[in-house]
Amino acid sequence: MSSQDEIPGKCKDHPETTLEIFCVTCNKSTCKECTNFESCTAEHETKPILVAIAEFNKKANEVLMSAEEVKQQLEATYQALMKDKEEFDAHVQLCKAAIERRTQEIIEKVKEESQEMLMNLDNVSRQSNEIESQQIIAKSKDIRFRNN
Ligand SMILES: [Zn+2]
Ligand SMILES: [Zn+2]
Repeated sequence: MSSQDEIPGKCKDHPETTLEIFCVTCNKSTCKECTNFESCTAEHETKPILVAIAEFNKKANEVLMSAEEVKQQLEATYQALMKDKEEFDAHVQLCKAAIERRTQEIIEKVKEESQEMLMNLDNVSRQSNEIESQQIIAKSKDIRFRNN
């Protein structure tokens, strides 16, 4: 019979007998029929089997609890990271929008200014044309005047 077939709470060496103690020194459960029972109770650190089981369950629960805590902490960290990332992305979006808006403003401004410069240039050339034609008129008058 393998140790897996062991009846819970019964001694694996004496299946009719309930385990009495757990010897901490031997790291072994023992029943009254076991040969080491007397020496263990006399010389070793022992616990009633129910206490040992309760302690084992408590430890197992603690391990499960701490595993659950670690899991929760990891999840919280992950959530915080995701939130930071979302905020960062949102910030990047805002920055992009601001840059695009500013670029658009600058483009509009440059367009306005170049329009104005073109208009000024037109005016200048019109004025110089006017001056030229006035000069031509004046000259032709002059010539006519001299010829008369
Ligand atoms: Zn036994
Ligand atoms: Zn012992």
